[in-house]
Amino acid sequence: MSMIHVDEARETILSRIAFKGVEKISIAESLGRVLTEDIVARRSNPPMDNSAMDGYALIAEDIESATPENPVRLELGEEIAAGYSAQTVLKRGQAFRIMTGAPIPQGANAVIMQEDTEKNGNSVLVKDRADVGENIREAGEDVKTGEMVIAKGVRITPAHIGMMAVVGRSQVYVSQRPQVAILSTGDEILDLDEQPTGPCIYNSNGYMLAAQIRSAGGIPVYLGIARDTEEDLLEKFQWALKCDVVVSSGGVSVGDYDLVKASLKKLGQEMLFWKVAMKPGKPLAFGRIGETPVFGLPGNPVSSFVSFEQFVRPSLKKMQGCTDVAAKTIKATLTRTIHKKAGRLHFLSSVVDWKDDKVTVTPAGEQGSGVLKSTVHANGLLIFPLDATEIKEGAEVSVQLLE
Ligand code: AMP
Ligand code: MG
Repeated sequence: MSMIHVDEARETILSRIAFKGVEKISIAESLGRVLTEDIVARRSNPPMDNSAMDGYALIAEDIESATPENPVRLELGEEIAAGYSAQTVLKRGQAFRIMTGAPIPQGANAVIMQEDTEKNGNSVLVKDRADVGENIREAGEDVKTGEMVIAKGVRITPAHIGMMAVVGRSQVYVSQRPQVAILSTGDEILDLDEQPTGPCIYNSNGYMLAAQIRSAGGIPVYLGIARDTEEDLLEKFQWALKCDVVVSSGGVSVGDYDLVKASLKKLGQEMLFWKVAMKPGKPLAFGRIGETPVFGLPGNPVSSFVSFEQFVRPSLKKMQGCTDVAAKTIKATLTRTIHKKAGRLHFLSSVVDWKDDKVTVTPAGEQGSGVLKSTVHANGLLIFPLDATEIKEGAEVSVQLLE
């Protein structure tokens, strides 16, 4: 089997991933979901010209000469609180007391802030001049009726929720969250509530994958551990296929008990088995069984983690209609020289640091496919290109940021 490039594997996979569907939910429940409609303002915000300050609405021309030494005296008229409108038109020589957010009365063209005034019985002394429009927030300053305020395909943030409320939307269309089955494989794998006896290890991949799925917007469905027999694998995969996506770990390599490939082939109409030119995480199975995408990830924890980030996360994003499915990649300055053999693209668990306008990246310790400790410290995956064998300290490298 020849090796294929990471990008080619990803593209082949993404071309076989379909959008799952939409549902309508309350904006209060929408944080982190993927928006599937453009949000268009049905109402301007603010809906009318209003005061940006507590102070006095007036006519700027009336106070052109005002200074602290020679204040201008204006006659006090109405008082306008937020949520109420003035009953009369403001006339030359008048000032209306006005609060922040209250509508500007007809006739007024500026607001002077309270701190520049002194109230005196039925009049107010104004100690400073004002420009026309000063301290007035214009209608539509934030949003105009008909304006598209959020484009579909984004993951909803707190500010998006604020904006949806600004334009009066209580419910929005978002994509359905895909249910993702997680199946760990291996006779040596123990669940966390089991007593370790013999040469066993805990099912770290199962829990780590569940967290990755959740952070990618999916609903993890933990199916435990399949033994290394075709019978058990077939049974558990059949259960798994009730979900929208299946992710397994282990059993895709070339060992005597790596039976995942054979089992998937038995179940599948279209299964691809690749050696991907990457490290960690060379072996990968992908295909559809019926309509369900199935990912057979390698068993080593860092391989499983990195393979998820390269192939499963973008797929889950595409299923949810994200416009941007690729991982965020930045350029950073390498802090020490690194080496490898040519022929595979390496992903190094690394620490990206932002200090004094400089972005640096440092590999986070030993990079074995079984050394999860380095990934624990990492906030990015440094991309060491396929054919490169050395990158010198001080060089610019690309780093995928971890989500
Ligand atoms: P395999 O691909 O099944 O040969 O597994 C490769 C390595 O990953 C072996 O050392 C396994 O013990 C380890 N491994 C497989 N599955 C898991 C898992 N769910 N959690 C932690 N390690 C695993
Ligand atoms: Mg195994």
